[in-house]
Amino acid sequence: MTRPPLLPLALSLLAAACGGDGAGVEGPNVLLITLDTTRADHIACYGGSAHTPVLDRIAREGARFERAISTAGITPMSHSSILTGLNNYRHGMRVFHSELVSHRLKDSVDTLPELLKRRGYATAATVSGYPVSAAYGLDQGFDYFSTGAVDAAGLDLSRQQRHEANFDTSGISATQRRGDRTVSDALEWLADRGEDGAWCLWVHLFDVHDTSLVPPVEFVREHGILEYPSPDTPAAGPIGNQWRERMYDPELAYMDQQIGRLVAWLEGAGEWENTIVVITADHGQGLTDGLRRHGWVKHRLIYDWCIRVPLLIRLPGGKHAGVVVGEQVRTIDVLPTVLEALDIGAPEVEGASLLALMRGEREPAPRMAYADALNALDAHSPGKKLPPGQDDNLFCATDGVWKFVLHKNQPASSELYHLAQDPLEAHNLYAPDHPEVARLGAWLRERRVDHLEPPGAEIMTPEQLAEHKAKLEASGYVGGGDEDEDGY
Ligand SMILES: [Zn+2]
Repeated sequence: MTRPPLLPLALSLLAAACGGDGAGVEGPNVLLITLDTTRADHIACYGGSAHTPVLDRIAREGARFERAISTAGITPMSHSSILTGLNNYRHGMRVFHSELVSHRLKDSVDTLPELLKRRGYATAATVSGYPVSAAYGLDQGFDYFSTGAVDAAGLDLSRQQRHEANFDTSGISATQRRGDRTVSDALEWLADRGEDGAWCLWVHLFDVHDTSLVPPVEFVREHGILEYPSPDTPAAGPIGNQWRERMYDPELAYMDQQIGRLVAWLEGAGEWENTIVVITADHGQGLTDGLRRHGWVKHRLIYDWCIRVPLLIRLPGGKHAGVVVGEQVRTIDVLPTVLEALDIGAPEVEGASLLALMRGEREPAPRMAYADALNALDAHSPGKKLPPGQDDNLFCATDGVWKFVLHKNQPASSELYHLAQDPLEAHNLYAPDHPEVARLGAWLRERRVDHLEPPGAEIMTPEQLAEHKAKLEASGYVGGGDEDEDGY
């Protein structure tokens, strides 16, 4: 029996008109999982030491990207790029907070859930920490957006939120929740939907970010930690750093186990084979390695231990199973890849679909990756506590072979690494007249990456914007120059 050809289209138009409850759209579904603070090189399928059988399985069933680069070492900026396919200078989320600089994902920018909702998808997000909350505009496009007990609406963004608890096994605090709770929330949402059409679900896990909330001790015993120190053990300083290192792989294993619950549920519901799965991270973490190499144990900076992240993409039907892509790719490529896999046209974004690379096709030129860290402007930056030279506004361009990090206020401290010969970024080759500084600097300059907009720029008049520019310059900000200016 054949259906009238117009019926599916009519149904999807109807679903779109109704705000997108998924009815009438057959899928596939889209499951996006972001692993906050997760270095690629700790995951087993990347050669790492953590026990990650579920991630390793997804890598075997899909494509694994050896070198995926995020746009920032800070959570809301990087997630904004994953959700929009745009670099930071386009999506508006530039700093945690500043009176002078925008710190919210622009409403005018289309996010992946917004695009899919218009196609009739039901959209949901269950997240684990305030940095990906509605406070930064990251809830755009989601029918259901859950942060658990984290009260995003009550946050005073001008103050840095502290993860007060330490070695707390309760699974929930005022700023974050543990992965088991976030995944349970996601499973409830899925179960409540029944078989009611296609969906897009974003699950954000925060466990490895710190030792604030920790897995049940019975779990970590299997990973070599027999018991936790007392909750008043300082999170900073040498002892805190040792625990940060010791807990990293067990907490990564815990996130892996929680992802396993999602996979098992989807298999049980018969949805696994009808779901596109994307797994990536917003940034890495210095740990002992970062401390030794560059003097920093956490994130925020833009060395590779911070911006090189895992990226796994599993398509239905076993397409490209076991493929490993060696070329440099970016987290801004996620959105156009998902849209192409769904045969939906992408809006004009800076990312580009990865499907051709997954098919083994070669590209004529490496993909340029961008990242920044406006440490001199972000009210939440640790400032002078950062390693020498890093308390600056940093703008990075890398093609995977060369990497240039412009230090805008103190250009003499800028960094240039030949990653092909120096993957650990140990030898700074920066010289103002180096040809790679000219080439990569021109790429940054053409995109006006240092042009900053004020909070609320979208609704400002040209006069108000000019006034803001004057204020920014009066504050000592060096940047925002015109395209034809030279200087870096
Ligand atoms: Zn993060």
